[in-house]
Amino acid sequence: MKLRTRLTLAFIVVVLLAVATLAVAVGWATRTFFHGYLEDVAGKRQQVWGDFFTAYYRDRGEWTGVQELLDIPWHSGLDQGMVRGQGMGRGQGLGRGRTGLERVILADSNGRVIADTYGLKLGERLSEQELAQGTAIVVNGREVGTVLLTTATPPGVLSREDLFTRSVTVAIILAGIAALILAGLAGFFLARRIAGPLSQLTAAVYRLAAGGWEQRLVLTGDEEIVQLVTAFNDMAARLEKYEALRRNLVADVAHELRTPLTVLRGQLESLQAGALEIKPDVIMSLHDEILRLSRLVHDLQELSLAEAKKLPLHRETFNLVEIVQKVFNFFQVEADSKNISLILDTEEHDIEIEGDRDRLTQVLINLLGNALRYTPSRGRVEVTIKESPGEVSVSVADTGPGIAPADLPYVFERFYRTEKSRNRAQGGAGLGLAIAKGFVEAHGGRIWVESQPGQGTRFIFTIPAANHILPL
Ligand code: ATP
Ligand code: MG
Repeated sequence: MKLRTRLTLAFIVVVLLAVATLAVAVGWATRTFFHGYLEDVAGKRQQVWGDFFTAYYRDRGEWTGVQELLDIPWHSGLDQGMVRGQGMGRGQGLGRGRTGLERVILADSNGRVIADTYGLKLGERLSEQELAQGTAIVVNGREVGTVLLTTATPPGVLSREDLFTRSVTVAIILAGIAALILAGLAGFFLARRIAGPLSQLTAAVYRLAAGGWEQRLVLTGDEEIVQLVTAFNDMAARLEKYEALRRNLVADVAHELRTPLTVLRGQLESLQAGALEIKPDVIMSLHDEILRLSRLVHDLQELSLAEAKKLPLHRETFNLVEIVQKVFNFFQVEADSKNISLILDTEEHDIEIEGDRDRLTQVLINLLGNALRYTPSRGRVEVTIKESPGEVSVSVADTGPGIAPADLPYVFERFYRTEKSRNRAQGGAGLGLAIAKGFVEAHGGRIWVESQPGQGTRFIFTIPAANHILPL
């Protein structure tokens, strides 16, 4: 079912339920309180009629002519007027007489009815119960009769209660119909307000799926709609970025492969043409290019495995401090040549961690390699290892030029280099940090960078402690 229809229907159902509940409540209140109220009024009126008949009897000393008194037009009009289907239509009824719909019954001292506004009980005897309900008429200390007012109506005549209930019911039905129309309209407009942006969003999603990566929506509306639109725009921006990365990746890989291949080809062609002699240094330079190519292919493979979360880890427990020391040894010559001091800051000399020794060594090599490359002579590169409950964190800080804020979010992306036109002598393909990130995350850790231009750079990564590593 369409959202629009469903919402409109829901509104209507709610209003129907509300009106029904109201009708039941009002019906109950009317019966309970209005009935009580009428009884109360009838009691007071009975007193008035009692006084009236007392005066009448005191004047005449007898009851003759009392029925005729009740029969005068302002009474008879009432009885007949309220008979269903007769008087109502002609505008008679309630307002016509002074007594309203009350029925006055007068009994003599023996309890025999001598007057009845409805004329139905004349001559009958009132029951003990009815006599008890009535008001005794006492003249000169003698009880001469009883007057009884009743709201009970004979069949075919509407009581006040019936009339009241009926008008309340009519009012509720009319209000209910009005509320239904309003609910239908409100439901319709509300649904249109909600469903409108949704269908625009659906259309945009389809366009995005068909490759329209530039899709962005500008929609105003309720908070949730705005949130949804913002989420959509974020997603579209991200997809657009990934699509650009994917396209760039192929271009980057081709570009990185081309350079060593061109060198190889040039040297081999020179060899073939006899322009170059087969000497050990030529063989070595060829071998270098082959190594560079193999490293690139190997890096790409590792990276793609890590990004697909399929990197096989050879887990073992080893001493992290020892590994850092080994990497220091590896870089010592380079550091000495640039007059850079390599410092290890740790409280313990035995920090056991569980993980893939070769891959974590690679992470350290990549970070320290960068640090050494970007730190000018007489600078320092410091590795700090900290143990905290649940994880070990390693930071590699240098006193180099730092990284511009604009570049910071991207340094972990593959092939990202801050100096775009750098030649190969100054650095690699831009895969080092992407690989470090992939390896650290494969261990369940995190890696991030803190840097400000001119203030050096600090790369930090964490590895969960052995008993915190979740099985892959
Ligand atoms: P590769 O590591 O593949 O040989 P690379 O070192 O250029 O190449 P990454 O290690 O991924 O690539 O580094 C990405 C970029 O981040 C670098 O090109 C450099 O611009 C910047 N960068 C990395 N480490 C530092 C650092 N310690 N100080 C300043 N800039 C850095
Ligand atoms: Mg690097």
